[in-house]
Amino acid sequence: MQQYNIGIPQALLFHEFGSLWREFFKKLDIPVTLSGETNKGILDRGTALAIDESCLPLKVYLGHVDKLLPQCSHIFVPRIAQYHRNFHFCAKFAGLPDIISNTFGVSPERLLAPNVENQTPLNRIQAVNSICRGLGISPLAGQAAYHHAVKAWRSQISLKNGYSSQKIGLVGHNYLVRDSFFCRDIIKTLQSQGATIITPDDLPGKMLYEEAQIFVPDLYWQLSAKLAGAARYFCRQSGIQGIMLVSSFGCGPDSLVNEYLEHHILQPSKKPYIVINLDEHTGSAGIITRVEAFWDLVNRRALA
Ligand code: SF4
Repeated sequence: MQQYNIGIPQALLFHEFGSLWREFFKKLDIPVTLSGETNKGILDRGTALAIDESCLPLKVYLGHVDKLLPQCSHIFVPRIAQYHRNFHFCAKFAGLPDIISNTFGVSPERLLAPNVENQTPLNRIQAVNSICRGLGISPLAGQAAYHHAVKAWRSQISLKNGYSSQKIGLVGHNYLVRDSFFCRDIIKTLQSQGATIITPDDLPGKMLYEEAQIFVPDLYWQLSAKLAGAARYFCRQSGIQGIMLVSSFGCGPDSLVNEYLEHHILQPSKKPYIVINLDEHTGSAGIITRVEAFWDLVNRRALA
């Protein structure tokens, strides 16, 4: 086998499936290079490459790809359209390989772009086989590596227990909430006040989608359904004192879904909540002030 080095952008669905993808390539003995944590340089480069209408997470993704291209033989850019029967991914995910190809003029051979159209076993086999074809490895080895990686990934997902202090539900796409460049100030400020933060990731995915079933067919987008499921669950928990909704500028689904969540879930729950929109110009001072004000409100309500 040729010597390959697969670049994986540490953005978008890396924050959901990154450990699965890494384990898959590790099992196949194929070296992987990660683009690292988002920083100002990556954000600026992505912003320069993207069209103005792009959402913030897509701009960041372009910056990560730009960093990897000179160092890697291939870039792993899965196309994910759907993997839950009732919901779909937003168009950015379905068009990601095309966006990368058009932005950078990369040859198709350098993109590992498995097509995840749905969650059927046949589609999964085809997606894994397409990676194997791109790397000249046996489909049998690829399928075995995939099964191994899924098993390892699932074993990491568990419900966390043992909360002891005031709890805040932090609801937002993984690629914002888990990207420390964007949410570091929010998380640090809350933690410094003694809050325990709970995110959708702390809940089993199955439960989130079950919670979100009530919103079908109003909610079309899969990642939005996950957030709606988390918000609905958090609002029903007496131990959760407040909800923080984090969103990004330029996100079409969020611009609609946030309104929907406010009207159908957050306002009726009577819990304190705040919506924070991030963009490439968001500064620390403004975020910290808003989080502190929200925290004051949470505490006042708790004492009332
Ligand atoms: S859901 Fe929103 S933030 Fe996420 S990729 Fe789509 S447009 Fe961007």
